[in-house]
Amino acid sequence: MADDIAVAAEQQPAKKVAVVGGGLAGALIAVYLAKRGFRVDVYEARKDPRKEPTIRGRSVNLAFSVRGIAALSAVGAEGPVLSLGIPMHARMIHSHSGETTPIPYGKQGQYLLSVERQKLNKDLLSVSESYRHVGLHFEHKLVAVDPEKGHLTFKCLGNNDQILEVDADHIIGSDGAYSAVRRELMKRPRFDFSQEYIPHGYKELCLSPTQDGEFAMAVNYLHIWPRQTFMLIALPNQDKSFTCTLFLPFDQFDVLKTKEDVLDFFQREFPDFLALMGEEKLVEEFFRNPTGPMVSVKCKPYHVSDKVLLIGDAAHAMVPFYGQGTNCAFEDCLVLDGLLEKHKNDFARALAEYTRTRNKDVEAMCDLAMYNYIEMRSLVTSPVFLMKKKLFNF
Ligand code: FAD
Repeated sequence: MADDIAVAAEQQPAKKVAVVGGGLAGALIAVYLAKRGFRVDVYEARKDPRKEPTIRGRSVNLAFSVRGIAALSAVGAEGPVLSLGIPMHARMIHSHSGETTPIPYGKQGQYLLSVERQKLNKDLLSVSESYRHVGLHFEHKLVAVDPEKGHLTFKCLGNNDQILEVDADHIIGSDGAYSAVRRELMKRPRFDFSQEYIPHGYKELCLSPTQDGEFAMAVNYLHIWPRQTFMLIALPNQDKSFTCTLFLPFDQFDVLKTKEDVLDFFQREFPDFLALMGEEKLVEEFFRNPTGPMVSVKCKPYHVSDKVLLIGDAAHAMVPFYGQGTNCAFEDCLVLDGLLEKHKNDFARALAEYTRTRNKDVEAMCDLAMYNYIEMRSLVTSPVFLMKKKLFNF
């Protein structure tokens, strides 16, 4: 970023940006905008995650790739991801009989990182808060927004639901797949929107370390048990556990009603996993942890004049099978920053170019994620795929 813009920004009264949603995208965009000299206020509906115990059962870790790392590196925030992420060099395919076959992700030395989602979010919130011009407001739920006027209405959940009215020069909607900001934009003419729920749901299970404190399976892999119409995956964590996710059609989840149903299903489909997890723990977690839906969202334009921009899942939620939702959300921040640089912090021009140029890229990611939904659970087991992989080392 050019020094002259930062200096100029320091000399003027800082323009106010309201960031709605302090998840992964919201925390990172706050850092980018603070670095450009804006006054940034982040409004997050939930409590401060840094003061809360870790919430299990909702996407505990993320596969992180070069796209996300580049966006963190541009603001010097890549440290925790690089130092705490666990490299996964290959997929490890588990057959019914318990045989395992590694399929590398790329050339030798290339890998994805398994990163703890909550830790990343907490770190980014702390990085953003280290900037003088950033304010974090937790338990502030957006209930209304006037895009033309830049006016927002929040319910203060920690304060008897008191209403807070806020004016901002610019608004970033980073409030996730069910975005309240986007809901407001949908009332406007010529706003395109589509969403698709897939028939599968997901349930997380935690595979603990062994009794002697080691990983229960080979560590540097993304483990997959592909079973054609459903699958189980596992990603390693720093504490030597694995976060395992069962992706199964909802109508099949619905028939797993009793302890016996669950054990029969795992014994039939994932016997090696059941042996590692143990029957009691599996049943306890299966019935305790929620089953989440997965949605793909496409919309455009992402902006309204110089006032509002949607980023992250609010703009393009994607099914998780390509492991690119967060990576893409972080790339949104990098792309926006590049356009603000190009247009000397002129939001009107930067946001218009953002919608024009970003749309086809993120929609392609949504489509690739949907394609990988099939590849991960079935194509990786096909002899043709395995042969090609071996021959061409892709
Ligand atoms: P979110 O993380 O959803 O954050 C939105 C924030 O806005 C939340 O904190 C929410 O509380 C807040 N909010 C919502 N409404 C309001 C409101 N009205 N007022 C104020 N605040 C509000 N991506 C990857 O890159 N790699 C992976 O391996 C991966 N695995 C995944 C696995 C699963 C099972 C799932 C479901 C997703 C996965 N993803 C993965 C996708 C990733 O989780 C999302 O793309 C990412 O969280 C998007 O970040 P975000 O900040 O846009 O949205």
